[in-house]
Amino acid sequence: PLAPARDALARLILDVADYPEPGVVFKDITPLLADHDGLSAVVAALASAGRSGADSVVDKVVGMEARGFILAAPVALSLGAGFVPVRKEGKLPRETHGVSYSLEYGEATLEIHRDAIAPGDRVLLVDDVLATGGTARATQQLVEQCGGSVVGVAVLMDLSFLPWREALGELPVTTLMTV
Ligand code: AMP
Repeated sequence: PLAPARDALARLILDVADYPEPGVVFKDITPLLADHDGLSAVVAALASAGRSGADSVVDKVVGMEARGFILAAPVALSLGAGFVPVRKEGKLPRETHGVSYSLEYGEATLEIHRDAIAPGDRVLLVDDVLATGGTARATQQLVEQCGGSVVGVAVLMDLSFLPWREALGELPVTTLMTV
């Protein structure tokens, strides 16, 4: 089911130059989200990363704040799995695990509720864009702190000029479009 998803991505993701700062080309997915056929095509394609044949191989789908939430929840429904949010520091109300990682300027911390993933759970990570891989790597560490294991990462788009593969090692990555 990849062709309709790729066609939707090519038509409905807009490049915004110099946002949020000079030199960055921001990938705006809101036109894709607003298009029913495009949204269903990309959700179906992302969900295929959590199946082996017709069977779901994941217990939980984790979405990273904020655009990952929008995509991960329908992927979870499609896989018969639960959805778990990974959030920026200070947003989750109960006991959390936290992982800090470096950004181009400074540091960021991501958190997960300690009881959101059960030991042994198989987890698929979903986000819109894979850039340096720092967000996905930190999220993998959070899942592992809970005792779960990450079976793969599924994204709409990867930026091939950034070193995300180094950050993620051998982790299987499903990307619908390479920029
Ligand atoms: P990274 O941790 O460097 O892989 O960055 C991934 C996170 O930053 C994802 O949650 C993306 O939503 C966001 N991101 C990074 N680069 C871009 C970009 N060029 N356009 C839109 N979102 C981006």
